[in-house]
Amino acid sequence: MIARVVVPIPLDKAFDYTVPEAMQSSIQVGSRVVVPFGRRILTGLVVELSNEERDVTRLKAVSDVLDTRPSLTEEMLTLTRWIADYYMCGWGEVIRATLPSGIDFRNTYTVHFSATENASAALNESTKELLHTLRMHDGSTLDALQKIDKTISLTTLRRLEQAGYVRLESALKKPAVRIKKARHLTLVSSIPNQQSLEELKTEVRGPQQHAVLHTLYDLQQEGSEIPSVSETLARSGASSSTVKSLEKRGMLRIVEKEVLRTPLGDMPTNPPKPPIHTLHTAQVQALERIHTAIAASRFETFLLHGVTGSGKTEVYIAALKDVQKQGKTGIVLVPEISLTPQTVTRFRAHFGDVIAVLHSRMSPGERYDAWRALRSGRFPIVIGPRSAILAPLENIGLIIVDEEHEGSYKQFDPAPRYHARDVAVMRASMNKAVCILGSATPSLESFSNARIQKKYTYLSMPERVPVPGKTAAPLPAVRTIDLTLEKKKKQLTGVLSKPLKEAIGQRLAKEEQIILLQNRRGYSSVLLCQTCGWSPMCDDCAVTLTYHKVQHHLRCHYCGKTQKIMRKCGNCGGTDLSRLGAGTQRVEEEIEAHFPTARLLRMDLDTTSTKNAHHKILSQFERREADILIGTQMVAKGLDFGRVTLVGVINADAGMLLPDFRADERTFQLLTQVAGRAGRASRPGEVLLQTRNPQHPVLQYAINHNYELFAKNALEQRNTLQYPPFGRLVRIEFKGPEEGMLEKLSGEWARHLPQVAGIQVLGPQPALISKIKKQYRFHVILKASKKITHNTLRELVAQASKRAKSLPKGYRMAIDIDAVSLF
Ligand SMILES: [Zn+2]
Ligand SMILES: [Zn+2]
Repeated sequence: MIARVVVPIPLDKAFDYTVPEAMQSSIQVGSRVVVPFGRRILTGLVVELSNEERDVTRLKAVSDVLDTRPSLTEEMLTLTRWIADYYMCGWGEVIRATLPSGIDFRNTYTVHFSATENASAALNESTKELLHTLRMHDGSTLDALQKIDKTISLTTLRRLEQAGYVRLESALKKPAVRIKKARHLTLVSSIPNQQSLEELKTEVRGPQQHAVLHTLYDLQQEGSEIPSVSETLARSGASSSTVKSLEKRGMLRIVEKEVLRTPLGDMPTNPPKPPIHTLHTAQVQALERIHTAIAASRFETFLLHGVTGSGKTEVYIAALKDVQKQGKTGIVLVPEISLTPQTVTRFRAHFGDVIAVLHSRMSPGERYDAWRALRSGRFPIVIGPRSAILAPLENIGLIIVDEEHEGSYKQFDPAPRYHARDVAVMRASMNKAVCILGSATPSLESFSNARIQKKYTYLSMPERVPVPGKTAAPLPAVRTIDLTLEKKKKQLTGVLSKPLKEAIGQRLAKEEQIILLQNRRGYSSVLLCQTCGWSPMCDDCAVTLTYHKVQHHLRCHYCGKTQKIMRKCGNCGGTDLSRLGAGTQRVEEEIEAHFPTARLLRMDLDTTSTKNAHHKILSQFERREADILIGTQMVAKGLDFGRVTLVGVINADAGMLLPDFRADERTFQLLTQVAGRAGRASRPGEVLLQTRNPQHPVLQYAINHNYELFAKNALEQRNTLQYPPFGRLVRIEFKGPEEGMLEKLSGEWARHLPQVAGIQVLGPQPALISKIKKQYRFHVILKASKKITHNTLRELVAQASKRAKSLPKGYRMAIDIDAVSLF
């Protein structure tokens, strides 16, 4: 028998191994196996088994089979294969991403000898010898045993375990993750009533033993059949030696039960049972379409376009209940659990025990437990960030991608560099399942798939859910504050304009809450006219030029064209061109100076580096322990605070100055999302945008809540420049310790690219963030027109990589298909 095995290396290749006779009955497609690989020992996954007759003399043998049940189902094998193909990475790398960290390398096992009598005569000599060794080294790890006797394998031990000679306990080697167990008590014979309790008590002496029996009887009456040892001891006041002596007398047994670790420590506990809502018309209409597809068990993707507060979550929950009734499973993707606690809480309130929550900050132990529970079918629903799309669920009926426009759905490092939304659509199609992509501001890709390509079914919910007894809450009023005008009036001394300060003061007086957004990513590397808000751009790429201090020039970091720094503004001729940058801290200081009694909370990268920081800040704000929440984009996510009536955006232009062809789209999304935080309950909300470009179309669309017009114009521009969703982008990143060498390597690679009409090769040149952690970064961007297929693009990249010399030690190349970030 030959096993084709995939190992977690960046090569997209499988390797053949022979399967020793003893393992042939246990090995399956999808099983993890231990294999020799060069001079290393790796854990791989069996992707194919065959019995073909061929010369196997040069093949090495599988050293061990780790799974009694395959780790990956056939569906997951197909899906991971597709991801490896599409995103051009190793199949083993994708498989590794589907398994909890730590089990990709080796499990270790502790072997406990459990046979009480001597090995029976029926055993052959070698088995007897082996048992002798195991008894001598009772409690050793498999690794330690293999040092003593090389022939000991997990397969052999499993057989001995079945025969009752040993007991195996698995644990992960590094990080040390074990199945967590708690000890429980069960009575050997039950105590049906008070009388039999008294009878039982006559059999033992001592008040402590009596107390234990009493407690067990009471607990049993309360419905606890196998109480934990610790609980019994606590209630009876007895010591563990009492329990042991009762066990010795054969009156009770101590059993071990698995405990599942959960990542919910930082989540609100015991969410209250949700009230039964009557859905409003748009929700009912959307659900009808979704329900039809679910009932027919057919693959269909819906784009659920609902404004902030339109009740998308209720639609998701109703659809999930639908598939639950069919006995199928569901996956819910959210951008980042710690930023969407309210969404998660609502799902937990509805589905309680059957929903598993995955979390990007879970410990390896929690991850391992969640994975096993999902694999065994214990949880039919999973909610989590992008990696949850790879959860080991079977029989999937529904996949939901909430806030589908979020950039965080794209993975960059390590490979696979997949887009969870696109994988979601693919996985749904493989399962004949329904996929719902939900957003108040759909990505232009999804919008075009729904409205232009008609690949997705478009569902619209244009109004907010009415407050019971009232009409629908209006979307908040959005106003701009012209910073250049304020400056002319000499009213702008810091970062806060006079009208914004006045508005803040009014809300504070009314004891209402305020959110201030300071979005400054990549901001300071862009030149800006202080008089009119103009910024120099690349004519070819429609992105802002980046200021480079060392070379003292401006550069387009897409195509690499450079330009001298101009003295005058290209729009108004003014000479006040400078770089601006005010962080959240600066805003905080100014607020403190103006409103010394206001209570502030700041949420940015600095204040959220610890595990539960997000949740702590948000719940403090929710409990109204603060009046003002100042933060970066993090504060714009799906939060719903009833008392927030003012949202202030310190610099609405900042996002648009980002050298990114998606800058406009991101700005529109951010402004719409953050505006949606205002006036969510019955209080009307107001949004103030400070800007130097009040007439900028993107701001105008956001002010008027006009997604349609925004999308129409943005798509026209994308079409002209052949940016996605019309064309395709592939970014090849080179990283290494020496800049000159990197430039040379990336240049050589690019020269090996065959020339094809319709494909533009941009670069190589330094990435926007040209150095991270002492590693320089260069990139080449391939921009393909819509006529070029994905396969053609793949072929080109593969050819160049094959022809180019392999990279020297310390240098790395990463292929990012459908790159979202071009930094
Ligand atoms: Zn100007
Ligand atoms: Zn350019």
